[in-house]
Amino acid sequence: MGVPRARRTKSKQGHRRSHLALKKRVLTKCVQCATPVLPHTVCYNCGYYKGRQVVKIKDKKSKVVKNK
Ligand SMILES: [Zn+2]
Repeated sequence: MGVPRARRTKSKQGHRRSHLALKKRVLTKCVQCATPVLPHTVCYNCGYYKGRQVVKIKDKKSKVVKNK
């Protein structure tokens, strides 16, 4: 296995990690209900995708209880 020949300075370490920052997630608005949703994803609020209903949402009350 390879063994490091010399200690990496904090500067070099920082340069390497300059590409590791997390990118902000892109959100688009649902055409049907204007909820922020991920692009190319079915809306979790109304079940619409590309202007038509793809998934049936049971009822909005159960969604609130789910997280508790
Ligand atoms: Zn929606």
